[in-house]
Amino acid sequence: MQRPPVDEILRIMPELEPYGRDAVRIDAEPGMPGVRDSSLGGPLLWPRDEPWPACSVPDDFEPSGLPPVSMVPVAQIFARDVPGPWWPEGLDVLQILWCPNGHDESAPNQAPDSPAVALRWRREADVGDVLAAPPKPARQDEDFYVLTPCTITTEPIVDFPFREELPEDLLPRLRQLVERTSPGGGDVITRVSGWKVGGWPTWHLTGVNSFGCEVCGRMLVLLFTIASDDTVGTTVGRFGELRLFVCPDHPGEFMADLH
Ligand SMILES: [Zn+2]
Ligand SMILES: [Zn+2]
Repeated sequence: MQRPPVDEILRIMPELEPYGRDAVRIDAEPGMPGVRDSSLGGPLLWPRDEPWPACSVPDDFEPSGLPPVSMVPVAQIFARDVPGPWWPEGLDVLQILWCPNGHDESAPNQAPDSPAVALRWRREADVGDVLAAPPKPARQDEDFYVLTPCTITTEPIVDFPFREELPEDLLPRLRQLVERTSPGGGDVITRVSGWKVGGWPTWHLTGVNSFGCEVCGRMLVLLFTIASDDTVGTTVGRFGELRLFVCPDHPGEFMADLH
């Protein structure tokens, strides 16, 4: 179902306006992205002299977690493709990696059952010599976390929350709007599903959860949603979503939350 333009949504329900959050939907297509392309599962623009992230959380293959497992790329996003309020001053590349293995215990600072995630922000112009051949994982689970390299196309939208974050009196009309725009079920208006930057998270399975910044205590906001997706080859949770919440003031501080 096609999502109505945001002007149309707000014409029907102007009360939603203060809750609108910028977001960019990401569609993926298998391809051969380069290190200077935005991609899912593609090669990263990585400085040759910077250590590649590795995971030493005990995994299904090796209870010691050693040797550490080199992480694999999940997403690389350039600001020129995905402009928005989430970019820290002066930075224009966002890189997300994860450990390709399942773990019984959670990685430090990450929610239970979440894959172990690493996040990097950088400035494209700062990367001189590029790492040509990233280390391969010492052991890896082929089933869940190995991505098909994909190029991306993007669509900027304004995302809206659903009942958890809205005044109760808006809900009957919001429900009508959702039903009218998704007659077959689903919801194209709020907490837009799929891969996205920014926007609102869904809490339909758990009720609202919030995470505070370890440095300043400020509430973390949704930065990135990794979707379960047959095209990309991702399965997170029970074909759910993995969301990365970051601190607006300390963008390196994040929580990965599996839904
Ligand atoms: Zn691991
Ligand atoms: Zn903070």
